[in-house]
Formats: sequence, structure tokens, C-alpha cells
Amino acid sequence: MEEKDSLILEAVERFMEKEVRPVARAMEQQDVYPAEIVEKMKAMGLFGAIIAEEYGGLGLSASTYTKVIERISAVWMSLSGIVNSHLIMAATVQRDGTEEQKQRFLPRFASGELRGGIALTEPDCGTDLQAIRTTARPDGDGYVVNGAKTWITNAYYGNCVALLVKTDPNARPAHKGMSLLIAEKGPGFAAPRKLEKLGYRGVDTAEFALENYRVPRDRLIGGVEGKGLQQILSGLALGRINVAARGVGVARAALQDALRYAQLRKTFGQPIAQHQAIQLKLADMATRVEASRLLVEAAARAYDSGERCDLEAGMAKLFASEAALANATEAMRIHGAYGYSKELDIERYYRDAPLMVIGEGTNEMQRIIIARQLLARFPA
Ligand SMILES: Cc1cc2nc3c(=O)[nH]c(=O)nc-3n(C[C@H](O)[C@H](O)[C@H](O)COP(=O)(O)OP(=O)(O)OC[C@H]3O[C@@H](n4cnc5c(N)ncnc54)[C@H](O)[C@@H]3O)c2cc1C
Repeated sequence: MEEKDSLILEAVERFMEKEVRPVARAMEQQDVYPAEIVEKMKAMGLFGAIIAEEYGGLGLSASTYTKVIERISAVWMSLSGIVNSHLIMAATVQRDGTEEQKQRFLPRFASGELRGGIALTEPDCGTDLQAIRTTARPDGDGYVVNGAKTWITNAYYGNCVALLVKTDPNARPAHKGMSLLIAEKGPGFAAPRKLEKLGYRGVDTAEFALENYRVPRDRLIGGVEGKGLQQILSGLALGRINVAARGVGVARAALQDALRYAQLRKTFGQPIAQHQAIQLKLADMATRVEASRLLVEAAARAYDSGERCDLEAGMAKLFASEAALANATEAMRIHGAYGYSKELDIERYYRDAPLMVIGEGTNEMQRIIIARQLLARFPA
């Protein structure tokens, strides 16, 4: 790791401990959007973490970026979503955009002047993206977009998304008629409603209504129609590695809290950490953290090498998100009644962890992706 990367990791860790940890519990419970924290994250350059330096970003590798995300998520997982959904949009423009789009948008994404995420999911479909109904009809030198999106991270307070649409609703197979647009909020494009959630609070998740929203043609990512699904699926590889890194962060936080508590809490004359039943839990929790981290590192290395990494990203996402869920549950059991208290962080891990099982492709779908890749790589 370069010295620059180590300095960034230290700065993130200091920032999370000093400025975020003291306020995270209350802001999360009240579902307050962390506006000041977001401004500081902009100043630290985190909105350009994986954007190349020539376009104003920090130019971090996925390997270093996942370490940033683990550190953020070990303190407050929601903040990692504010950065990551945004960076999936940025990574898609960086990889598939025209040179004009890169020069025009990447510096504004890196500074956080334009901030947002990816708008794929609709009221009637999430996993089956080829069933989307939002259309972009050619009109003069652009498109007129109509439809609805839901469950979009950063939709309420952000101002720009990579928007998945059908430019040819009659295409068969459907993905040949799907395109991705860089869509800035404006007339006909509003986020009227923030959604109430179990966890992942503080970060905004909202619905979009698109009514005769006009997009210039030069916002079509890559300048060619029919490539949108392929472009966003490549972007989701980074998203999955990121969700896996979030899983490591939450699983580690749950382990650290449980380790500490188990040595302080006594029953029957000794710390509960001395009871074998608790030791078995701690051992499994620690093993999950280490195994998840190794899978994340392997997936990030594959991503950095430019190889296709669906298999590695899928395995990391599947295992690390399940590890976060299992560790949160075990930390709650170890804490007894205090695990159920709003005065500790355990109940937050317990509410945050399921998102990682669902988001960026459910874990059912990850298993299917892993199996398909295995069959393709190892034909009989
Ligand atoms: C807090 C939050 C934030 C989110 N942020 C975003 C965002 O920023 N942008 C965005 O576009 N979306 C976002 N999403 C949506 C998320 O990506 C979807 O919820 C997810 O892709 C699953 O889609 P669905 O909810 O429609 O479930 P469905 O697709 O309806 O699936 C329902 C169930 O069926 C299973 N299933 C579906 N198909 C198959 C199959 N072929 N084989 C086996 N099982 C199957 C699924 O695994 C799941 O268990 C967010 C969701 C949440 C909760």
C-alpha cells in the first residue's frame, strides 16, 4: 500500500472516532441526515475516492477503498452508503462514459458538487431489472423520460443519478433496449417522499417520480443505446465488494463490542467470557470477520486487475453480509438485555445488517451468480 493510502486510512479512522462516533447513535435513532458530516467527507475527498486523479479524485484502488469502507462501517454503516451509491454512478461514467462525459462529470462527482447514486429499482421490480417500465422516448436532441423508481439511496438530498431506462421498450431480449442516463434533478424529476426504514437510517432512501422529464442526448452513458444493463451490472461488481466491506465493518464492530462486554459482565462469579458457551460464540464471530476480510481482499484484487470478478465479488458479498447478520445476532445474545437497549450500538448492528443481505443483489441472487460462474469456468 502506498504512503498516500495509509495516510487516508488513518485520517478516515481519526475522523470516524472523533467526529462521527460521538453523534452516530443519536442521529441514527432520530433518522437525521448527517449534513455536516457529509460536508466534511466531501472536504476529505471521499466522494472522489475511486475517481482517477486526472479527473480530480483520490485515485484509490478498490483494495484501499474497501479498507476505507470497513473503517466507516465499523462506526456508522449508513455513511458508507452515502459514498458508495455515488461512486457506483461515478465508476460507471469513468469506465463506460465518453471522454466528454468524463471531463464534464467526474470532477463534479469527485468534489461532491453533484452527488447521488443509481436508480434501477422500480415499484414492481428489483432483481428482475429487464422488467423495468421507465421509458426514455427520443425527442429532438434528447429524451423524454416517464416512469417511477423506488428505494433509491441518496435520492432525497442528492441531485444526480445514473438512471436505468428503456430506450426501446419492444426490444427482445429486453436488455438490448435498456440504457443508462446521467440524470440531474430538474423539472419533471422529483423525489417527493423519503422512505421509513428498519435500519440504515440517517442516509436518505426515496422514491422518484419522472414525468415528462427531459434529458439531453449527450447524457446517454457511452453515447450508445442498448448498453445500460451491461454497464450497470459492471458497476454493481464494485457495489458488491463495497457491501462486503461494509459487512466486515459491522461484523467487526459487533465482535469488538461483544469481546469487551464478555470480559466485564459477570455471572456465577466469573466474567461470561470464561463460560465455554460464550467462548464458542466469540471464536465463530472472529473467524467470520477474518474470513470475510480475506474474501473482500481477494475480490478487490480481482477488480483492480481488471478481470471479470462476478464470482469473487458475489462470494465476498454473500459471506460478509451473512457474517454481519450472524455477528450482530450473537453480539445481542452475549449482551443479554443490554443488547436490546437503545443505549448501546448492538441493536443498530442488528437493524443495519439485513440491508446488506438484500442490497446490490440479494444473497439468493449471489448464490445463483456464483453457481453460474462456476459452471462457466469449469465445464465438464
Ligand atoms: C435500504 C435500501 C436501499 C436501496 N438502495 C437502492 C438504490 O440506491 N438503487 C436501486 O436501484 N435500488 C436500491 N435498493 C433496492 C434493492 O436493490 C432491491 O431491493 C433488491 O435488488 C431486491 O429487489 P426487490 O426488493 O424488488 O426484491 P424481488 O426482486 O422482488 O425479490 C424478492 C425475493 O425473491 C428472490 N428472488 C427474485 N428472483 C429470484 C430468482 N430468480 N431466483 C431465486 N430467488 C429470487 C429475491 O432474492 C428475494 O428474496 C435498495 C433497497 C433497500 C432496502
